[in-house]
Amino acid sequence: MSNKWNLIVDVDECINCYNCALAVQDEYAEMEHPGYTAPMPKHGHRWINILRAERGKFPIVDVSFVPTMCNHCDDAPCVEAAENNAVHKRSDGIVVIDPKAAKGQKHLVDACPYGAIWWNEIEEVPQHWNFDAHLLDEGWKEPRCVNVCPTGALKSVKVSDLEMSQIVKDEELETLKPELETQPRIYYKSLKSLTKVLIAGTLEKVSNGRTECAADIHVSLSQSGSPVAESVTDEFGEFKFDGIDRNSGAYQLNLMCNDISQKIVDVDVKNESLVLELDI
Ligand code: SF4
Ligand code: SF4
Repeated sequence: MSNKWNLIVDVDECINCYNCALAVQDEYAEMEHPGYTAPMPKHGHRWINILRAERGKFPIVDVSFVPTMCNHCDDAPCVEAAENNAVHKRSDGIVVIDPKAAKGQKHLVDACPYGAIWWNEIEEVPQHWNFDAHLLDEGWKEPRCVNVCPTGALKSVKVSDLEMSQIVKDEELETLKPELETQPRIYYKSLKSLTKVLIAGTLEKVSNGRTECAADIHVSLSQSGSPVAESVTDEFGEFKFDGIDRNSGAYQLNLMCNDISQKIVDVDVKNESLVLELDI
């Protein structure tokens, strides 16, 4: 079984430095790679596009950065939509848009459900990040974005599909929009900033007539009587539960005010993170 390229993006490690996006710019802007890509325009294209995912609200805000690019799907809608075999999947898993055969095929921009194809108005050709196929064919061991990432947030692996399935299982990797069933080869670790919501809050208490942060309070989260997670408020009286399914409905927060008294708070989880202001 032949080995194929995959990219693993660890969202927790991305610091939004933009090195990966700049490496793409440096490699392709106004630079032709015959047989692989026409020159990328100097402005306007983001073949690696770093999304900013913000959850919560003041004072508890969680910000993550999610690098996105062509997913090199095994079941790629762009391949289906292309005329004259202008887009094809190589045996090493990389999807390539032939710059000559794809000329004029603007409809390919809409064929990609991830928004990963950009229209080059000057060259009249659809373009995407092609995994630096020309460099790999020259013997590079990894694409440039991986090479320049200072934190190890990007890792390329060339393995068999069987080995990749094991890595996906072991490292609990996810893909973008799995419901589309396009079989992406770009995998994500810690994608919860895009897919899940937070239940967070601040606790205050009145002590000697003064309102102050309620630190070291045990907070537990349950749903329909089953425990979900536990936490203890920090010195600012803050607690946070991450990885909660969107629109997952009613939960109960149990605040242990002291050894004998507790307070139950009902919350309803919809599509957004919750940041509560509570007192005990
Ligand atoms: S180079 Fe690495 S850390 Fe920097 S933005 Fe890209 S993925 Fe994130
Ligand atoms: S992400 Fe879009 S451009 Fe890339 S292979 Fe999938 S459908 Fe095609």
